[in-house]
This record gives sequence, structure tokens and C-alpha cells, in this order.
Amino acid sequence: MELVTSASSGRLLIEGCAIATVDGVGREHERGHILVEDGRIAAVGAGSADRIDDGAPVRRVDGTGCLATPGLVNTHHHLYQWVTRGLAQQADLFGWLTELYPMWARIREEDVSAAVGAGLGWLALSGCTTTTDHHYVFPAAAGDLFAAEVAEAGRVGLRFHPVRGSMDLGASAGGLPPDDLVEDTDAALAATADAIDRFSDPSPGAMVRVAVGPCSPFSASERLMREAAALARDRGVRLHTHLAETVDEEDYCRATHGCTPAEYAERLGWLGPDVWLAHGVHLDAEAIKRIAETGTGLAHCPSSNARLGAGLAPVRDLLDAGVPVGLGVDGAASQEAGQLVAELRQALLVARLRGGPTALTAREALALATRGGARCLGREDELGAIEVGKLADIALWRIDGLGHADIADPVAALVFGAPAPVELLLVGGRPVVERGRLATVDERDLLVRARRAADRLRI
Ligand code: ZN
Repeated sequence: MELVTSASSGRLLIEGCAIATVDGVGREHERGHILVEDGRIAAVGAGSADRIDDGAPVRRVDGTGCLATPGLVNTHHHLYQWVTRGLAQQADLFGWLTELYPMWARIREEDVSAAVGAGLGWLALSGCTTTTDHHYVFPAAAGDLFAAEVAEAGRVGLRFHPVRGSMDLGASAGGLPPDDLVEDTDAALAATADAIDRFSDPSPGAMVRVAVGPCSPFSASERLMREAAALARDRGVRLHTHLAETVDEEDYCRATHGCTPAEYAERLGWLGPDVWLAHGVHLDAEAIKRIAETGTGLAHCPSSNARLGAGLAPVRDLLDAGVPVGLGVDGAASQEAGQLVAELRQALLVARLRGGPTALTAREALALATRGGARCLGREDELGAIEVGKLADIALWRIDGLGHADIADPVAALVFGAPAPVELLLVGGRPVVERGRLATVDERDLLVRARRAADRLRI
């Protein structure tokens, strides 16, 4: 498909594709062009690009038959779970966690590397250019798990927002996880500070930015939640945790703290414009109002919520209230598919199951996965739209195959249709996927390493 003049010039021109820019006014082009220079978008528009005749080399990509969108932004995931998938198939959240905790207690550095590599490779193949990873399992003597995942993300080439998670509320203290899987509160806080200091890059265009994330109301103490929030705000990084995922969690909060999960979060300083929460399935009108008023973001994970039978998040109500909503694949052990593009369709379908056929449009679903995700991560100035000056994180989807060619509208083809193959995925202008194959790492190697880790953990 490509007429390659130079692959190393730092300049790349995509032409002939449909474009959904997902900019502030939802500008779209039936047939247009995108010029990338030095990792950023230099031009976007209808038709062909103006002549580039300054003599500098440009790699030209023929986008005929494709749709270009902003690269998808995944706002919630647990990559280490990639190597513990397919278990506790009929369990709800608490049953699923209880069955998997002992296996996670045996995880080591090499397992995390293998799981992160496979999970990120698979995300890239589903159009994802930026992802979070909420890692909250740190067994004693397991190695430097956080460093291992950051290193693996660098190899795959995705923009990475790892969340240094933590749990300090073991079963003997009234929490859900076994005591041997939780950390000492002070040790968890020190390790979180260390993760920020070592890996978080606050500069424009950053490839790695760390967030702070005690796991959930039933696995993190009140002190850990409060002090982690203070740490994050002191260092100027974002906060992330699970909230209001299940009825069981709500019952736990009412019994333990005498309030709803959202009230508990607010009491601990966990609502605000620097916070994004995972799930928000069980939110009453007052909780939605407070989340909106405080500028808190929400990671919507429709497939995981369905897999665990947790419920349908009130996405329409959240959007109408002005809440920044992104999409998350979650899992990987509670959502074995792990494809971000598939969550667009899932989000649309579950919104309509809850609120009827006008509850979410295809374009709104695409906006959740792009602009919405960028807002959750505090990067709407750099990511989430194809606009001049933004980072060149772009997904080029092939929609002229048997599954998509006859769908009337390219955006409907992407959202209503089957997951489309990724023709080209750029992260900061660098190709990570080309013609449906990973360009940065060997897919077979990812598979072999993940299989080995999964086999070891199942024994
Ligand atoms: Zn989760």
C-alpha cells in the first residue's frame, strides 16, 4: 500500500483515507490527508495535501479504503492478569477476586514482563496508542514489578500511564485480599513515591506518566487512601482507583463506613479534577452530580462489567452531567478479549440496553475512546484528536474488507461493525503496527513468553 520515499525522515503523509478527527466540532473528511512531522500532526484536511516541495524526504502512505481516527486511549487495565485469564468463569467480582488472589500472590517479575508485553501488543493491534495499567499486586520478593512493566511498554512502543496501585487491607483487618498479598501502608506509600520519582515524565509529549492508585475501598485502608492522595497532589500526578463497581462493594461501604462508595471517596479527598475512577456502575443521582461538580473522570469498562455481571454504568447520565468519560478494557482476567476497539461497540450496545436506541451514538462512542480518555488522563491538550499541533497518535483502520466495505458510514463501520484490522498505528509518528502486524516487537515471542508464565502460575 505504501510508496516509501524515506522511512526515517520523521515526516509522513497519509492520503486518500476517510478521517474522523474527533476535534471540538467533530470535523470529518470523506477523503483527506494527514501530515506528520517530528512526532506531531502538521496538517490535516480534505483532499490531497499541498505540494511538499522543500526537498525533504517524506514517507507517503496510501490510505485508500481506510478510516483514520485518533489513536484510542485505554483508561483502565490490569495487564498482569493477561497470564491468569479464563478462570472463575461464573464468579461475581468478590468470588472472582477470591479465587484469583492466591495465584497472583505467586507472580514474579518475568511473569509481569510477559503479561505486559502480550497485553500491550494486543492493545496495539486493536488501535490503542495510549494505555494505563493499574498494577496493585506486589508480593514480597517478586522483584521490581513496576520497573519491569515500564521497560516492557518501552519495547512495545505504546504511550504508557502506569498507576502504582496498592493494597494494605488484608482479610485479618476486614479487607478482601489475603494477608500475604497486601503491603505495609508505609512501604506502599514509599514505593509509590519511588515509582513517581523514577519513571514519571511531566514534560510535553511524555511517553511515561505515573499515577497513584490504592486499589479499592475493600482492599485499601482509609489512611492509605488519604495519604496516597496527598502524595499524588504533592508530586503533581493523577489519582486513580476502583469505585462503585458492584452491589457488594456498596454493601461493604455502608456496613463499614456508613455511606455510599462515592460519599466515602469524597470524604477521603478522592473526587476532583485530578482523579479518574474505574467503573462507576452503581451511582445514584447525587453521586453523579458530585462527580460532575468536582470534575472527576470515569473509566467505563462495559465488557468487564458484563463478564462479572456487575451491571450497566449510567454513561448517558454521566455525559449529560458533563463528566469526562473514557473507555477501559479492564481485566485482562475479567475481560479476556482485551481489544479496545471492541469496547466502542460494547459501550454503544450496553448504553442502548439501558437507555434505548438514542442513548449513545457511534460518534459519541468514538469520542469516549479518544477525547474522553485523554481528558481522564489530563492530556486533552496533546491527545485524543487529529488536530494540528497534537501528538501524532493515529490509528488507520482498514474498512474495505468483507466485514466492513458495505457499511454506509465509515464511523458506523468502525463502531457497529466487527473489530477492524489496523493498517497503521502511529505513536508519536512512530509506526507500532503496520498491515495488521506489530512493527516493534515479535508477536510470536510475546505469545511464547505469556504462555510460559500462564503455565507456571496455573500449577
Ligand atoms: Zn479494574
